[in-house]
Amino acid sequence: MKTSLATTNALALVLALTATNVASAEEVTAWRLFVSDHAEPKVTVVDAVDGTTLETLPIKAPASLYRSDSGRTVFAVQGSAGTVTALSSGIAFEDHGDHGDIDIEAAKLLGVEITGEKPSHFVEHDGQFAAFFDGEGIARIFSERDVLKGPADVREVKSSAPHHGVVIPFGNYDIVSEPNPDDSSKPPAGVRILDHDGKQIGDGVECVGLHGEAASGNLVALGGCADGILIARSGSDAPVVEPLSFTEGLPDGRVSTLIGGRGLQYFLGNYGTDRIVLIDPTAHSAAFRLIDLPTRRVHFAVDPIRAKFAYVFTEDGQLHQVDVVRGAITNSIKLTEPYSMDGHWSDPRPRVAVAGHRIIVTDPLKSALHFVDAESFQKAGELAVEGKPSNIVSVGGSGETHED
Ligand code: ZN
Ligand code: ZN
Repeated sequence: MKTSLATTNALALVLALTATNVASAEEVTAWRLFVSDHAEPKVTVVDAVDGTTLETLPIKAPASLYRSDSGRTVFAVQGSAGTVTALSSGIAFEDHGDHGDIDIEAAKLLGVEITGEKPSHFVEHDGQFAAFFDGEGIARIFSERDVLKGPADVREVKSSAPHHGVVIPFGNYDIVSEPNPDDSSKPPAGVRILDHDGKQIGDGVECVGLHGEAASGNLVALGGCADGILIARSGSDAPVVEPLSFTEGLPDGRVSTLIGGRGLQYFLGNYGTDRIVLIDPTAHSAAFRLIDLPTRRVHFAVDPIRAKFAYVFTEDGQLHQVDVVRGAITNSIKLTEPYSMDGHWSDPRPRVAVAGHRIIVTDPLKSALHFVDAESFQKAGELAVEGKPSNIVSVGGSGETHED
């Protein structure tokens, strides 16, 4: 650590150790960062509380990372290796009624790999994970409980043809992207709802250009349509998928990347290269609010703890705090050299995650993670990570450890 992060947390550790001696139950806070590399097949695990590297886990190819809702598992989607690798985060929470317990072990590879051609979009819904393999047009669906036990029981859901698609598990049904009927290499045409025997329920729902999906509360949004997005919700039996049309008067644009609010029900999406859009799925005729960015967007993340904030990183090297209730940028801080959005879409660029009271931004060209205090929005140190740290997810929280 280059700055005060290490010192502050050394003090926190001393206080925590003191507490152990006087009480049988100890309140423990643990946050871990899982960081993939842009060029190397590895996941680096960082203790975000004391700013140390815990371990480096070998995988097969550079990966995109996803964490489960529970935080117990992390998945490394390695498109070029045709593999989705399951990791245990080593952090688990157990509800004890009046308090929660935290259980901490080393992060590790679970020995479970889901393989196929070109894995791409990875979704969790209703306690099920769905890894979509573009090269086959097939999703492989499995549960966290199975993954944690070992070789996972995998259910396959087949779309009409190989394409860049997605499947969202929805109880006894699946929402399945429908490829362009004339040319499956073009963006999908919409979605269909299938039961677990593969039988279609009702009519398909059109969304030409379908791309991007996220969950917030009990709703799932699917993006990319020419005139809005789709919102999926539970019905009396099968799920219901309905279009949510762009608010009147918006300039031309599409929402093709989505993230879902935690604590507040909303979606945040891209809208052109230098705007983001706040989507209130209950506001019907005024569901979409645009926020202009100073330069083009690189990445964004929602704050699961301070629910009214989200963060956007732009190509000029700034991290912006967005108040999603006001619909405005409320703070900005310069963290890195510029990362132009010109060049290849897969060039190394920063990614954002939130861990407790810190926001973390990867800086692949400087081999560093930047820490920002989420309350003051000031720099809170940085950590060197070998290679080109790129994708990042965080897992953690606070709980008690005690003899039960
Ligand atoms: Zn307990
Ligand atoms: Zn995609």
